[in-house]
Amino acid sequence: MSDEKKEYVFDDAARERATAELGRVDREQAGYPRCGLCGQQAGRLDKFGLRSKTSEAHQEWRAAARAERRTGRR
Ligand SMILES: [Zn+2]
Repeated sequence: MSDEKKEYVFDDAARERATAELGRVDREQAGYPRCGLCGQQAGRLDKFGLRSKTSEAHQEWRAAARAERRTGRR
């Protein structure tokens, strides 16, 4: 089952089409954590609670998290 080690990378359109398929995979990967931004499951999350995706939205999320940490805001 080498698929489990592969990272699931979809652009937004492909992700929508794959939603039904992911629903099935979802059960198989029930133990995997979910990305805090897009909710997709990943084998591991980074320190911001996101899967290792570098889309603009994910980068902005990380930038915001870093900024909050720097200012000590809660
Ligand atoms: Zn995500």
